[in-house]
Amino acid sequence: MEKATNSQSYIRQYLLQSEELYKYILETSVYPREPEPLKEIRDVTASHPYARMGTTPDSGQLIALLLKLIDPKKTIEIGVFTGYSLLLTALTISENSKIVAIDMDRKAYEIGLPVIKKAGVDHKIEFIESEALPFLDQLLQDSRNEGSFEYAYVDADKDNYWKYHEKLMKLLKIGGVAVYDNTLWKATVAMAEEQVPERLRPARQAALETNKLLAADPRVQLSHVPVGDGLTICRRIS
Ligand code: SAH
Ligand code: CA
Repeated sequence: MEKATNSQSYIRQYLLQSEELYKYILETSVYPREPEPLKEIRDVTASHPYARMGTTPDSGQLIALLLKLIDPKKTIEIGVFTGYSLLLTALTISENSKIVAIDMDRKAYEIGLPVIKKAGVDHKIEFIESEALPFLDQLLQDSRNEGSFEYAYVDADKDNYWKYHEKLMKLLKIGGVAVYDNTLWKATVAMAEEQVPERLRPARQAALETNKLLAADPRVQLSHVPVGDGLTICRRIS
């Protein structure tokens, strides 16, 4: 791999030792097994200026494996964008399982929606066009929602992750799993601040704080996985 010569070249999408290694994993184990509708949703997203926000296929593959193990009936997703992780979840959970999917950007969701419909899994999805926090509060006003979810995926505004976590610790069942994306934030969490481009600093700061809080949270069992842009997997234990 080329030696980094300036701060910009430190910023990469992958977290492994080399781009070649990441490519090797994708080409050997991920792309050949990626379901066709997920490839399609990547294609329809490719021209979007924020296409890189989508969950990476290697993270998706791990999430799908987790979902099969958990077999959740009720799931929640915060941060849908064009729907890569949403479609992945909808394709993986069982026929009568549901996803509450929250994003205030309906336009982005509508880019992926035709692919979701074509895949025949839109009946599992309830899309909520809203800021996530007020909607989570609304859910918590009905005590029947407490402890009712078995899986949550969080991939929205990084500065609210801890607030989402606090709400999810009520909404998830004990034994339920929350997965947080981008918790290594393009590897910037381990860089000196001066090396990090200005535009990445606020979310880096948020990731540093959330990671510290999650690591110290006795309510969860946790694994911080260097897949994609960093996934933190938390299982509620109390
Ligand atoms: N999971 C998606 C990527 C999500 S990108 C995928 O796999 O493709 C982040 C998304 O979070 C964006 O669509 C953005 O609109 C949404 N978002 C940001 N802040 C939010 C908030 N406060 N409430 C709800 N959604 C939010
Ligand atoms: Ca993400």
